[in-house]
Amino acid sequence: MTAPGASARRTTAAPPVYRHRTDAAVRLGSGVLLWLSLLLVTYWWVTGGGVQDLGAWATGLTSTGRLTGLIASDLLLVQVLLMARVPALEHAFGQDRLARIHRIVGFTSFDLMLAHVVLITWGYAAGQLSATPATLWELTVDYPGMLLAVGGTVALVMVVVTSVRAARRRLRYESWHLLHLYGYLGAGLALPHQLWTGQEFLASTAATVFWWTLWASAAGAVLVWRIALPLWRSTRHLLRVTSVVREDHGVVSVYLTGRHLDRLGAEAGQFFTWRFLTGPGWTRGHPYSLSAAPDGRSLRITVKELGDDSSALRHVRAGTRVLVEGPYGRLSARARTRRKVALIGAGVGITPLRALAEELRYAPGDAVLLYRFSDRPLFAQEIAVLARERGLEVIWLPGRRRAPDSWLGDGIGAADDVTALTFWVPDIADRDVYVCGPSEWAEDVGRSTSAAGLPDDRFHAESFGW
Ligand SMILES: Cc1cc2nc3c(=O)[nH]c(=O)nc-3n(C[C@H](O)[C@H](O)[C@H](O)COP(=O)(O)OP(=O)(O)OC[C@H]3O[C@@H](n4cnc5c(N)ncnc54)[C@H](O)[C@@H]3O)c2cc1C
Repeated sequence: MTAPGASARRTTAAPPVYRHRTDAAVRLGSGVLLWLSLLLVTYWWVTGGGVQDLGAWATGLTSTGRLTGLIASDLLLVQVLLMARVPALEHAFGQDRLARIHRIVGFTSFDLMLAHVVLITWGYAAGQLSATPATLWELTVDYPGMLLAVGGTVALVMVVVTSVRAARRRLRYESWHLLHLYGYLGAGLALPHQLWTGQEFLASTAATVFWWTLWASAAGAVLVWRIALPLWRSTRHLLRVTSVVREDHGVVSVYLTGRHLDRLGAEAGQFFTWRFLTGPGWTRGHPYSLSAAPDGRSLRITVKELGDDSSALRHVRAGTRVLVEGPYGRLSARARTRRKVALIGAGVGITPLRALAEELRYAPGDAVLLYRFSDRPLFAQEIAVLARERGLEVIWLPGRRRAPDSWLGDGIGAADDVTALTFWVPDIADRDVYVCGPSEWAEDVGRSTSAAGLPDDRFHAESFGW
């Protein structure tokens, strides 16, 4: 167990750590690489006569269809890479931002893929719309790899339909996640038709090398970082539950130990996806943040009972083996750029902030915690110790949300959110701000910090949604 008081040794002001510069360079570099890859496939389309073909109706349709297909394929593989848990990308963007970019890239790729199917078929049907169904059938059965591509398209349609917000709200996370894995099948099945029939794919050695490299990198990244690394880490560290402690009504802390935890590379504020080997259901992984700073010997998570799996944790026995994926997330010291910090949390969203308040280096008065809770705060004693021993300033914000667009509780009075925030933390614009809580609540906090003058790149948020 990590004793909060033990953190009293880290009381010096923070020497700024410059990992955020590396992360900014990775963000810039990956954006440049993405645009270069799009330019490159467009260049091959141009040199392959793509522009000249636009001169006539039917060839113009086919040519536009080829371009949309090339860009769709590029983006399809990029979105696989984005979610492959590549460490440099995870550090630079954080998983929730990667997921948001993945969503935009994914929908764009899908729309372009549909345009590709329609335009190519229409072009092959000599520009006659009425002949397209028959042409589509011929293309599917006569051309090598096309039947597989149709299978891949069906898989991708299913993934996209279930990812539209309205559909997602109706699905359990686990069902959505399982269906989403068909995206890999879709990406894999689309490849053979590019290889066997795609003009641009085989246009030059450079093009062939480019596509193979991109495809192999995406597949390799998934195998290495999504499958092999978590298995290796789980085997190496042999995590086990040491105890489960009730924190409050419906909230438990799970304490874990394992081998060589000092080499796990975890930081306060990060999360893992956990699988408790208690029997059936172990395959469903759930993300939980560390609620205490990792000390090299033990880990702690604190979980609110929301559904079946989180509620089952209170019955987990000491000695239970645990598989983990992670550590993930950039709600950590890695994102820090300033001496002063503000930690703003709501409900069980306090968990990573509690760990950060312990691990971050700060002088008394340089860190402030604003904690909103409905009934009773979690970790009240531990936070009091941090306030006493580390000089953490604490502002308790009890009460239910006073209005749907306010992130404050009903005991605050009439002051608007920004006025209240700048009253409590007048130099908020000069700090790094770490936020954790429900997505909409965190967005409301973001609106207040922006209005108070905080630049976007110093607002570090993690939401517990998907
Ligand atoms: C990065 C991150 C860190 C988190 N850290 C904590 C934490 O420290 N403490 C804590 O109590 N909760 C945390 N959560 C939320 C926690 O993962 C869910 O409450 C938990 O997975 C619910 O599982 P369930 O089967 O009990 O509930 P379900 O009935 O399956 O779902 C209850 C709610 O949790 C959501 N949920 C279920 N599974 C997942 C999943 N794999 N990923 C994201 N959301 C899911 C569902 O959409 C639903 O809204 C975190 C979530 C994320 C994304």
